[in-house]
Amino acid sequence: MLNIGGLNEGVVIDHIQAGGAMKIYEYLNLEKLDCSVAIIKNAKSNKMGKKDIIKIEGPFDIDLNVLGVLDHKITINIIRDNEIVEKKKLSLPETVTGIIKCKNPRCITSIEQELPHSFKLTDREKRIYRCIYCESKFKGK
Ligand code: ZN
Repeated sequence: MLNIGGLNEGVVIDHIQAGGAMKIYEYLNLEKLDCSVAIIKNAKSNKMGKKDIIKIEGPFDIDLNVLGVLDHKITINIIRDNEIVEKKKLSLPETVTGIIKCKNPRCITSIEQELPHSFKLTDREKRIYRCIYCESKFKGK
């Protein structure tokens, strides 16, 4: 049972690979949110040994499906009145923009710094994304 300790309403991002919480915090721009955010690092997990957890208080409106691009083991719990009312499975978005970066030094995004980094899902089974400009591959965890 997940300890949602003191979270009346909000979202718990669970089963983050240990050490991955800060990255997700940055990807989601959580520092820009007005609500309280708790990061738990290296929590014990039967399934994973260690894991990270992020708790976000209050109703908030961010598309969390992008998290599936980074780490497919992540689970989302929606909390209301101190209870988990919904466990969400992440479904991979067809395109992601501004989340993952193309690492190909010859890609136009390396030259034209203001171009948004945009990737298209090319293999849902294997969770492979490709840069829309140079087709460089990105594979999440
Ligand atoms: Zn590229």
